[in-house]
Amino acid sequence: MTSVASTSYLSRLRPLRPPRVCVAVTATDPAELIEKAESLARDNSFLEFRLDYLSKPALVIPKIKQFAEYHPHIMTIATCRRASSGGKFKGSVAAQLDILLKAADAGCQFVDLELQSASQCKPAQVQKIRERAAVVLSFHDFRATKNLEQTLEKMTAISADFYKIVTTATTLYDNVVMMKFLEKHSDRHSLVGLCMGEQGIISRVLGVRAGSAFTFAAVSEDERTAPGQVTAQELRSTYRIDNVDAATRVYGVAGDPISHSLSPLVMNAALRRETVNGVYLALHAKTLKDLLACIRDIPLHGVSVTMPYKESIVSHLDNSDSQTTKIGACNTVVRAQDGKLYGFNTDGAGVVRPLQQRITLENAKILVIGAGGAARAAVFGLKERGAEVYILNRTPAPAQTLARQAKAKSVKRADLKKYTFDVIINATPVGMGNSKDSPLNENEIKAKYAFDMVYTPFETKFLKLAKLAGAEVIPGAEMFVQQAARQFEIWTGKPAPWDEMLRVVSKALTEESANKAAQNDHRKRSDGDY
Ligand code: NAD
Repeated sequence: MTSVASTSYLSRLRPLRPPRVCVAVTATDPAELIEKAESLARDNSFLEFRLDYLSKPALVIPKIKQFAEYHPHIMTIATCRRASSGGKFKGSVAAQLDILLKAADAGCQFVDLELQSASQCKPAQVQKIRERAAVVLSFHDFRATKNLEQTLEKMTAISADFYKIVTTATTLYDNVVMMKFLEKHSDRHSLVGLCMGEQGIISRVLGVRAGSAFTFAAVSEDERTAPGQVTAQELRSTYRIDNVDAATRVYGVAGDPISHSLSPLVMNAALRRETVNGVYLALHAKTLKDLLACIRDIPLHGVSVTMPYKESIVSHLDNSDSQTTKIGACNTVVRAQDGKLYGFNTDGAGVVRPLQQRITLENAKILVIGAGGAARAAVFGLKERGAEVYILNRTPAPAQTLARQAKAKSVKRADLKKYTFDVIINATPVGMGNSKDSPLNENEIKAKYAFDMVYTPFETKFLKLAKLAGAEVIPGAEMFVQQAARQFEIWTGKPAPWDEMLRVVSKALTEESANKAAQNDHRKRSDGDY
């Protein structure tokens, strides 16, 4: 086995080429830290020991030595971030240096030292660490992404092996700022750069291709060491960070809020299945202006547009399909090579396709409940296929207007008893989330099929009642998948693997429903309901 001393010596002779993803490991006691590192060692060749999370960091040093001896191929960073720099270590700079030196002697090939600490040291002290390990000089801005050039200038006055600048994204465009900075300076310095926060996801996935030597990931969602940090599993299998290169096309779903969107899961699964060199990200756009700037400058090749921008983006498009024009809303943007933006609406396909898999739409009698954007998409899409469409809305006027525009019919709820339908579609949000409401009662559901656009929960009250009324049900997940499948086809020109997409979404939604049920159960028990 290679000794620790010889590993460190060899690593000083060749430039360190770390893997793309470094997993930050935290624990409150030394045994747990090493146990976690051991369990990660199989799938991760680059770990960061967050020594500042330990109450007595020095106690873990012998165990790190042992770990390094057993795992000579694993690269490790020792970090003991001081509280004044955003970490948990309460000791002095001298105490911090002492721990970092010992960690380097124990076999950590990298040592993270904050700019604030390094500025208080003599150059010889930093040099002493560099004789044992590569120094990652770090700077964190927990509020904004600004002054990157000035920060780098200050940092490069201190000799180090890597310069790590971590900022906070308050807009999506902050990621562009970070990536342009990386592109400009990474040929002169070994840089690590990323933006924290929910809006920083772009830089976490794409920073490596812009020139960041590596990026950071969490062990699990509960063990994030920085806001917005993504798990190593997500970075590798959902976003396929190891394959991201200059040719990788970037897609995303943009809206506000966006954190619960299932689109990244399903679209990345489709891109992976069809071996498309692309990555799809959740983009929390707080303004349309921010989103449009990112489409232009990242650039984004395709965007799924969701609330609240479906209508307002239309006037920014260079051209759009007939569905978008009729509906007055766009859910799919394509950015052409020349930078022009084309808009599509795939919600109609989301309704039509699941029905076409079951019935002939020509002359089918279909009731659409609701008169909002999704109802409009359904009505126009179904009319185009020759269906006889009826519209029911809580307030009759919008239903009448839509019926006139689409050459459909509007009905009043009181008259429903006169009709039976082939399909009833719920295009309202009624029944969403924890609500136990249904847009119709059981005795009003007289149809062969009941189709709910609502997809959380997987099985809504409307679908439960429809089953009792003897109808076959079509869950909202099918619409979700088919509108996404159509987007995939527009962007890639390939048929979408919709069955795989449906499997992924159904699994995620049923797991989510089961988790919610378990949480409710737990709450009831602790409230003494049992
Ligand atoms: P919207 O706000 O444009 O329209 C909502 C419609 O529902 C309006 O006609 C409104 O009058 C009606 N409505 C709202 N609350 C109601 C209530 N309590 N009782 C009766 N009617 C009510 O919304 P939208 O974009 O048309 O979306 C409608 C639903 O479809 C949402 O739940 C949305 O999540 C869902 N949707 C699902 C998919 C999918 O892929 N499965 C795609 C698009 C929309």
